[in-house]
Amino acid sequence: MRQSTMVLALVLGAHALAVPPTFAQETPEVALTRLDCGTPQSPLAVAPRFTDTYDYPGLKLQFVYSCYLVKHGNDYMMWDTGQALNAGPVAPKVSAVDLLAQLKVTPDQVKYVGISHFHADHIGQANSFPKSTLLIGTGDWELLTSKQPPPNAKPELVSSWVSGGGKVETVPLDKDVFGDGTVVMLYTPGHTPGHHVLLVKLAQKGHVLLSGDAAHFRENYDKAGVPSFNTDRSQTVASIERIKSVVANLKADFIIQHDLRDVGKLPAFPAAAK
Ligand SMILES: [Zn+2]
Repeated sequence: MRQSTMVLALVLGAHALAVPPTFAQETPEVALTRLDCGTPQSPLAVAPRFTDTYDYPGLKLQFVYSCYLVKHGNDYMMWDTGQALNAGPVAPKVSAVDLLAQLKVTPDQVKYVGISHFHADHIGQANSFPKSTLLIGTGDWELLTSKQPPPNAKPELVSSWVSGGGKVETVPLDKDVFGDGTVVMLYTPGHTPGHHVLLVKLAQKGHVLLSGDAAHFRENYDKAGVPSFNTDRSQTVASIERIKSVVANLKADFIIQHDLRDVGKLPAFPAAAK
């Protein structure tokens, strides 16, 4: 028994030596942390605002506001930035910057701010990261910077890039953020013209897919339901179909950012999924 353990140890040792020294550089550690980026209000009747098919009579759900920190080696990316600090009752109690400070991460370390879509509850604290490169769907950026932005677009929330000279990279289709397949923005238009979801590959947990607002709650995801406020119905349904295929093929965990029931799919702050 003792001898076989020793043989095993020798074999494992030899294998460890055979791993090229560059291994660690080629696969940087990827970690994902959820941040609370808004103050939830009481449970909300989802009809009629979140259905265009007279669904969900009487259904009330608890919505939350989530944003995420993705660590990729020594680089960081924020995915969505939640509500603004002056958003009244839904404003976050603790800013994203102060939450990052608890993780010993400064805004200057955040290389990218990735935005699922232009709605105010997803870009509220973007200006806290003025040195980051803004990654945003081309169609959404065009709306934010158009001469007459739609009433629900608030360009002032991304003024660091609209007028402040910050670096913007508009994303027309999919984007492999770090070039190694671990963090990928998937083009899923419909809710807005340039909407994206974020696919994150974690070494231990596997794939996680962050919803943006491709779906606002589990029932709409399951039934390919469409909110009454939406840009393109057929695109929304097609995007949900794409997401379901990705989830099935990669056995991914799909996390709906606004659904309280999905918060527990990631470890509670300040812990990270790895
Ligand atoms: Zn939205």
